Amino acid sequence: MKNNKLIVSIDVEDWYHGPSVISPIDKTKSLDNLLNNSYNIERAYKYIETCLTILKKNDSKATFFWVAEYAQRFPELLDLVVKEGHEIACHGLEHYSKINKITKKDTFSKDEFLKRTRKAKDILEELSGQEIIGYRAPNAYISGTIVDYLEELGFKYDSSVSVNSMYNKTSSNLIGVDTKCYYPKKSSLDVGEEKREILEFPWSYYTFLGKKIQSAGGPFLRLFGQTLIMKGIDESLKKGDTVFYFHPIDICNEDIPTDNKKLKLMWYFKGDFVKNRIEQVLSKYKDSTTNFRNLLNENSY
Ligand SMILES: [Zn+2]
Repeated sequence: MKNNKLIVSIDVEDWYHGPSVISPIDKTKSLDNLLNNSYNIERAYKYIETCLTILKKNDSKATFFWVAEYAQRFPELLDLVVKEGHEIACHGLEHYSKINKITKKDTFSKDEFLKRTRKAKDILEELSGQEIIGYRAPNAYISGTIVDYLEELGFKYDSSVSVNSMYNKTSSNLIGVDTKCYYPKKSSLDVGEEKREILEFPWSYYTFLGKKIQSAGGPFLRLFGQTLIMKGIDESLKKGDTVFYFHPIDICNEDIPTDNKKLKLMWYFKGDFVKNRIEQVLSKYKDSTTNFRNLLNENSY
């Protein structure tokens, strides 16, 4: 029997990619005006470098899902990551959500999604020299039709689905979905019976008092700590390979340069405190971490 793996992934984005800062609906906010002079490469560099250091310390080759706009802004950072042998994958062109979080309806047309995502894939392929085969939906808002489009664009996997008792950011009831990777039904995110070109890697969860709690990381790692995350990873690893993720901004010690109260609150727990939590997770699973590309190369599903 194969040893199940913990897939380590990093969503490379910054505070200004959050849905309350930029969105396709509100085009009045110009990104460059917003960023002003408050943003500089030194800050971004420092946190990417810390990510690389903690991965190296734990012998871990991760998947970095980049917002393509951010990779274009700081190509030298992407270079550093590529040189360390990590996988580059796609986290959208500008981190706009494809579906509306309330109505779960599409926020842009199929053509626009294909155009924007193809552009993001091209940018990342050009900058990294790697074939981009993986996708994670901005803000994890995903639908079955998006997965169809991703398949059309040549992506081999998506990792955006989270089954949990607190929220469902998808347009599907996620029938049959657990924490194991699976082939979704066409135009749906329910588990399908047929093999297709694209696999979905759902996130880990922890079952507590009959409730499922997202334990893949991100805001849940910042808010609830590593113990819960590791319990969920242990539970999910019994079922199959599973996913852990964080953001470079999770370990940023500086204030978020905005007066948006909601955002400030969202990033209240971050910095060294969260860096220690990430390090504990990476060191606990040191012998069983991998990235998506290596996992797919080494296994058949
Ligand atoms: Zn994101």
